[in-house]
Amino acid sequence: MKKSLIEYLRTEIEGDVLSNEESRDYYSVDSSSYQVVPKVAVLANGQKDIAITIKAAKKFNTTVTVRGTGTGLVGSALNSGIILDLKKLNKSKIGKNYAQVESGVIKGLLDKKLELQKKFFPPNPSIGAFCSIGGMLGNNSSGSRSLKYGSVIDNVLELTMIDGNGRVINLPKNKKIGKKIFEISRNIDKERFPCVSKNSSGYRIDAIKNEKDAHKIILGSEGTLGIILSAKIKIQNIPKRKILFVLEYDSVIQAAKDCKGILSTRPSAMEFVDKQILKHIPQKFDKKTNCLLFVEYDERVSENQKELKAITNGKIRKTIHTDKQIFKWWRYRDLSLHFSLKSVKKEERIPQIIEDAAVPIEKIGRVFSIIKQINEKFNTKSIIYGHIGDGNLHIMLYGNIQKTGTLKKISRKFFSEIIRCSGTITAEHGDGIARSEFVKEQYGERNFEIFRELKKLLDPDGILNPNKIVPSK
Ligand SMILES: Cc1cc2nc3c(=O)[nH]c(=O)nc-3n(C[C@H](O)[C@H](O)[C@H](O)COP(=O)(O)OP(=O)(O)OC[C@H]3O[C@@H](n4cnc5c(N)ncnc54)[C@H](O)[C@@H]3O)c2cc1C
Repeated sequence: MKKSLIEYLRTEIEGDVLSNEESRDYYSVDSSSYQVVPKVAVLANGQKDIAITIKAAKKFNTTVTVRGTGTGLVGSALNSGIILDLKKLNKSKIGKNYAQVESGVIKGLLDKKLELQKKFFPPNPSIGAFCSIGGMLGNNSSGSRSLKYGSVIDNVLELTMIDGNGRVINLPKNKKIGKKIFEISRNIDKERFPCVSKNSSGYRIDAIKNEKDAHKIILGSEGTLGIILSAKIKIQNIPKRKILFVLEYDSVIQAAKDCKGILSTRPSAMEFVDKQILKHIPQKFDKKTNCLLFVEYDERVSENQKELKAITNGKIRKTIHTDKQIFKWWRYRDLSLHFSLKSVKKEERIPQIIEDAAVPIEKIGRVFSIIKQINEKFNTKSIIYGHIGDGNLHIMLYGNIQKTGTLKKISRKFFSEIIRCSGTITAEHGDGIARSEFVKEQYGERNFEIFRELKKLLDPDGILNPNKIVPSK
């Protein structure tokens, strides 16, 4: 008798094959508002299990979606076929200026290991203690310090993956495939790419300057082009001195206007939280305070301090020198999503779709105006925080949206305005279920065709995380 998918996996896989209701429920959700129940989850023991899972997907005409720790905010790790959990691939080795890390390594644990050697891996999502390296690479994650050190795409030297054909590929070492990726990417319509410092939408063909950049196409590809087994990542020395300023502003517009000047002093991080967030911070602020900027320097500390004081129009509420206090204040910023959720009644929550756009810094004031217009037109309210130094604001909309279709109208309006500002619809969270339908609008026909060609090269049968970023076939 012919075996079913689950029987086949149970016979072939060394790791665990989870098909009971509880496991499928667990893998049906992540940190987004979506739910997609998979057929089965495979907890792979290693490379062999991953290859077998891909083979099984082909044999049984289903799909494979790789998952990290499921902290993604837009449903990127959800799909209806096989979910591949790589948490057992958790080895890491630290070199002088790099670390060799398997996909299932938890970022928080890697941080601790690196700290012992006075090193750090710069991209630092606010959820960094819990997310996986694979998920960070899959989303091209970043965080507050990406302002100085870049996103994941700027901090990965090499990766090994298995593509949809079942080939184990090291990029950029595999010159044959690297050359193909470069050749396909060369046809890029550059005009349609956003002018931003971080971008997690679509495939980053803009980053492929030659064959040696071929691995960058996988970063931010949300498991649609290959399943990353491990990566060689750049690590940096922990700076000797840091200083953090908390600036308060009566006006959001004034804070936005100050950003460009503050950026000229080269901070390592510049973050924004609005009034709704700051009320959760146990510190006395002026009654009139409407928002805060967190500005951190990790070099030229004294000179930068003087320059900042000379140019800011905000009031410096706190100047923080000690690591312990700096950590404490970053924690308040990192808890912004949690504070936002606490501020909104359950029945007023709106799924996150427009939560992660970025624009060139000169246009940051425009984003606040667009949100004001949306709130007025659709009778919504908003909470705003985020990586303002990179022009990247996280927006939580809430209210009573009654009519179906309103959320789509809001997204269309917001994204078309963001694209008009030369911005990206997602700077770090990815396209996922929430935004994949807007990728074509973001990049235009020609670039979208290139995305499809890349998909055809690395996943011709469309079995890897289908219908994310591009349609699977
Ligand atoms: C409170 C909160 C704060 C956040 N703050 C930030 C922030 O500051 N910056 C930021 O960038 N993000 C942030 N995020 C979003 C998200 O947590 C990060 O992008 C995180 O890096 C995702 O990691 P994960 O392990 O949970 O990945 P998952 O959500 O499990 O997966 C994310 C994507 O990566 C793919 N993937 C996973 N493993 C692999 C692999 N081995 N090979 C190929 N693809 C893979 C998945 O298929 C999926 O498409 C935040 C989320 C929350 C809940």
